[in-house]
Parts: sequence; C-alpha cells; structure tokens
Amino acid sequence: MFKPEIKTKQPFASQFLESALVPGKEKLANSYMLTGSNTMDMYFLALETARVLNCPEKTPNCTCPGCGWIAQNRHPAVITISPVDYIRHNKDSKPKTVITIDQARGLKQALSVTSRYHRVIIFTDAKEGKEYQTRAEQAWGNYREFIAPPVPENTDSARENWIPAPLSRKTFHSEPANALLKLIEEPPPQVTFFFLAKDREDMIDTIVSRSQVIPLAYNPEPSLETGILDGFFNKFPPDSKEEAVLYAERLLEIAKENSLPPEELLNLLENHLVTLARHNSDNAGFCKAAVNRLKSIRQAKLELSSYVNPQAVMDSLLIKLAQ
Ligand SMILES: [Zn+2]
Repeated sequence: MFKPEIKTKQPFASQFLESALVPGKEKLANSYMLTGSNTMDMYFLALETARVLNCPEKTPNCTCPGCGWIAQNRHPAVITISPVDYIRHNKDSKPKTVITIDQARGLKQALSVTSRYHRVIIFTDAKEGKEYQTRAEQAWGNYREFIAPPVPENTDSARENWIPAPLSRKTFHSEPANALLKLIEEPPPQVTFFFLAKDREDMIDTIVSRSQVIPLAYNPEPSLETGILDGFFNKFPPDSKEEAVLYAERLLEIAKENSLPPEELLNLLENHLVTLARHNSDNAGFCKAAVNRLKSIRQAKLELSSYVNPQAVMDSLLIKLAQ
C-alpha cells in the first residue's frame, strides 16, 4: 500500500492508516487529526491515503494515471485547504493569514456535488512566498520525488516556495471550524478529512472530538529551523556596534516572518554557537569567547521571559556579541 519512504519515517501511523484501507474491510474514520513535529510527513500520509483510496492497484509504486496525478498533487479527489490554498472561495480570491468562513462554505458547496472519487480534504496551515525559499528547499528535500505542493486552482505553474505548516487555533479559528462540524460528523459518502497539527491542544475541541487522533513518530524538521538563520550565520557575529543594531532588527524581522517567538531564535543562535565551538574545540580563544557569548544569550532569554521589550533585549545582546 503506502510508499516505503513514508513507512520508514512513520511506521506506526502508516500501518494504522493502511489497516483502515484494506479492500473489503475498510474502516476509515470520517476525520483524522495527525499530530507531531513534521508537517511534511503528515501531508505525505494524507496524500498516500488519498492515493490508495483512488487507485485500483493499491501498490506503492503504481504508475496508473490516478497515482500520477497524486504525485503531482493535481488529483481532483484531493483538496488542500490552507490560508494560501483553495482561495477562489474568498471574496477577493486572495490568500489570507487564516482559513476563512468563505472557504468553509465553498467546501460545503463542493462536497454537495457527488464525485466518482473518494475525496480527501486536507486542512493545514501553509506558507508561501520568496521569503520562504530557503525553508522550502530544505523542508522539501527528497520529499519532492514523491509528493508536490498542491497545484493552484487557476494556473499550471509549479509552486517552488510552498510549505505546509501545522494548524493552530490562530489560523483555524472557531467560526470556520464550527461551520464544518456537521459535515465532518456526517460527510457525504467517500469523503475523508485530515487535520494537520503539532498537538491536539492546537485545535478546537469540537474538531478533535470528531476526529481520530494519530500521533506521529518524532521526526523533527531540523534543517527547516536552522534554515531560517542560514543567511544570518554567514556573517556572524557582527563587526561593530552599528552592525549589531542592524542584526538585532533583522533577527526580530525573521522571528515575525516565521511566526517564531524571539526566544526560539535565541535557542537557534545558542545551538549554532555550541556547534561552532565544537568544531573549534582546539582554539582556546574561540571557545572562551563562545562561553561568554552563550552566557549573554542565556541572560537575554531570561530578560525575555521577564517581559523586557524584545527590541531592547536584542539590541543589547547583539552589541555584547559584536567583536
Ligand atoms: Zn495507482
């Protein structure tokens, strides 16, 4: 059934879903909530479920047209709903920062028309844009050989800078969620929902209680996170006080662009310095400086947790880190 590439990464979740797909013994839930540290794995699992449901062969490397469409993510049976996908239902047809009530209504409408396919609806957060290029390259890595970003509804152009991200209550709030409750509880025949999130706490209870929750194996997206700061590390630490202030500003921008709290960025900075120190363990001067820098970072984290203004914390930290 499922491709070996996802089975090795997520053996439990793959087996669990496969067992619900055995021909003649299907026992699919109406709705699944996949939770864990790797949204790409969750997205892959949802697409594999859609592929097996719509393929006569059900083999991992099937070459039927349906499996080909799924690999290109242009199969009419798969609907990805995120703030940047399925947007033709928004009044202005533009991407938003949240999943909208109009998208929920559009979906209801679409599902009221019967289909010869088994439709799989994937709710996820997603980011798209030039600023996500590095992250997208790293997040996709060799996943590109098996799956692809959803093909946009009105163009045929490939999406280089699209990445799935876990849902949160902020992106998928109660209004669109509640509009879908009845549909999730009693979907039309051959419709299955997937919700991708870090943790069940990130979704409103009414959705969680109507879904079968499948926790994924821990498979963090490390390159994704360090990728955010790659450009930054090339010229780190700053050379002067002026440069330090610019760096502080840029760090806060990066935090905002990636919806990361500044504390998380300091964790990444800390990891980076520890790795650098390991690589330079025979350079006593470097290590001594690294220890001092790590102390400054810990101090800054402490300040952030005591609600000192992040801008002030970053400015003073980067000035301390400057050579
Ligand atoms: Zn096939």
